[in-house]
Amino acid sequence: MISEDVIQKVKEENDIVDVISESVKLKKSGRNYMGLCPFHHEKTPSFSVSRDKQIYKCFGCGEAGNVFTFIMKYKNLSFPEAVKLLADRVNIDIDFDKGSSHRKNTFQKLYKLNTSAARYFFNCLKKSESARNYLSNRGITENTIRRFGLGYSVDSWNHMLNFLKNEGFTELDMVSAGLIIKSQKGNYYDRFRNRIIFPVFNSRGKVIGFGGRVLDNSKPKYLNSPETSLFKKGTNLYGLNFALKGNFSRVLIIVEGYMDCISLHQCGI
Ligand code: ZN
Repeated sequence: MISEDVIQKVKEENDIVDVISESVKLKKSGRNYMGLCPFHHEKTPSFSVSRDKQIYKCFGCGEAGNVFTFIMKYKNLSFPEAVKLLADRVNIDIDFDKGSSHRKNTFQKLYKLNTSAARYFFNCLKKSESARNYLSNRGITENTIRRFGLGYSVDSWNHMLNFLKNEGFTELDMVSAGLIIKSQKGNYYDRFRNRIIFPVFNSRGKVIGFGGRVLDNSKPKYLNSPETSLFKKGTNLYGLNFALKGNFSRVLIIVEGYMDCISLHQCGI
């Protein structure tokens, strides 16, 4: 948490005209500054910035806000990230992690584990002819497999578990990441078995969970990681990291499934 006082101070020190001028060429026009809107395509300036009010507004597309919303939208950042960036810009030191370094370490460990698991699944796909055939039959190219980091989970109860244990992770880590399940008898086993694996990225492109699809008609067709401290289903959207990249048209197409999303990207949409 960043305190309201600090947020206010960061805002005051970062004049909106100066900040936006670093990205958009502005020209003084009366009391305001005008420029070409960075959020829609235009040839005559309709993007207005007010130093008095410390806000911007585009009369073409309607985008409007303050210095924080500008940075969030322009750089695809979350609110805390935008505050941090602007604080750094004026040398204000904000310590996010006061008293929460333990939590931060846990997160970092989970990210590391997810990355290792994704790499493991990706390598298993390389070795599985049936899984590769399944994807090529569905028209998925090698390039797409690499771009989306698609993988395969071996038809085994503990192949992944043993692999990740050798990498130095504990069962507890793997349970926290939702990768393994503890049986009633107290044994651990792999959650994903004999499935095509879709790593789920957050909007910053980090692996936070996995989706697994069967190769045949068995049930359930799709299996996802459970909610974990990284994987929050209500606030994440698969493929958002790719859709945000360089998307200044601010048009998004939302589809239902992993394969729908991947297929559209493969077609350049
Ligand atoms: Zn605009």
